Amino acid sequence: MKNRIFLLYGGKSAEHEVSLSTARAVTHALDFGRYDVTPVFITPEGEWRPGPLLAGPAENVTDLMIGENGTNAPARLTDGIAALAAQTPDAPPVVIPLLHGPNGEDGTVQGLLEVLDLPYVGNGVLASAAGMDKVVMKQLFAQAGLNQVPYVHFIRSEWNKNRDGILGESESRLGWPVFVKPANLGSSVGISKASDRESLITAIEEALRYDRKVIIEQGVDAREIEMAVLGNDEPKCSVVGEISSASDFYDYESKYVDGNTMLTIPADVPEEAAEEMERAAKAAFKVLDCSGLVRADFFLTKDGSVLINEVNTMPGFTPTSMFPLLWQNSGMTYPELLEELIRLALERYHEKQ
Ligand code: ATP
Ligand code: MG
Ligand code: MG
Ligand code: MG
Repeated sequence: MKNRIFLLYGGKSAEHEVSLSTARAVTHALDFGRYDVTPVFITPEGEWRPGPLLAGPAENVTDLMIGENGTNAPARLTDGIAALAAQTPDAPPVVIPLLHGPNGEDGTVQGLLEVLDLPYVGNGVLASAAGMDKVVMKQLFAQAGLNQVPYVHFIRSEWNKNRDGILGESESRLGWPVFVKPANLGSSVGISKASDRESLITAIEEALRYDRKVIIEQGVDAREIEMAVLGNDEPKCSVVGEISSASDFYDYESKYVDGNTMLTIPADVPEEAAEEMERAAKAAFKVLDCSGLVRADFFLTKDGSVLINEVNTMPGFTPTSMFPLLWQNSGMTYPELLEELIRLALERYHEKQ
């Protein structure tokens, strides 16, 4: 009997499009001889629809969104949940939530899958939620003794009441430039660099479009190095990779649009720094209680200091994304990586039972 897989993709998130690319790549790589795959498309509005029954690689992103054989009849979240809940406990499908950002990478869908008692790939509720909120994540990193940039954070109502206080605190504690980010998002959506008060106000207003919580970070002039972590209780780290972006910073365009970004794997960093990153990546994985996978993003400053920027609990996952490329360089192909993630999902599921 084939093993069954439910692929969740799309999502009610500003990272919806990124999820489509990820889903397309995963569909392409899955061995349809071994797996019986049920694609579930989540619209930007949060409706759940049966995706097409893909027998092979999707030709383009749109194919993933429109069902064949009338399977694209509009459905609702409750129908999607009913379909998942109807799965038998003796042979439950493994769910792969290929969702980035809020409503998918943040523990919400993971919570649903826990309640339905289904095995799923990647991080659990706590790690997903804590990893999505950059403020909570940084507070936990601090608890674990990890080096990171100084930051200031606030929620919308505080901004509305006390703009001058927040601007003053940012200026005196962080100086210039700063990076302003929605606390809960990814793919650089809603992130701006600000170098003076006026651009800071614009940046905050932009970030507040995406989230009620905003973080302002001290800007560092540093190399950007990433490391992939894979495993459950005893995670393994990949080699390190470097991002060189032609843009001012690694923004949404340079990630997905303009193609001017170069990934160097393995990155040429001092051995000491790579070791420190491995220690930090494992400590971050542990303090957030991660499972399955994360990609840890670091800054390596000119004086050789390693600062952790963040972890991503469902990192970009196309064959040209950093996470799979790091493993490829460590000897694991893209399909092998998928197999390993499914194995880790089942290991965690059975351990819980
Ligand atoms: P993703 O989840 O896709 O990695 P994200 O939306 O979570 O992205 P960050 O990784 O925090 O965002 O930041 C995006 C980019 O912005 C970084 O890769 C880097 O280029 C730049 N950046 C972010 N914070 C800083 C900082 N404090 N100093 C310098 N550059 C920064
Ligand atoms: Mg991120
Ligand atoms: Mg991300
Ligand atoms: Mg990042």
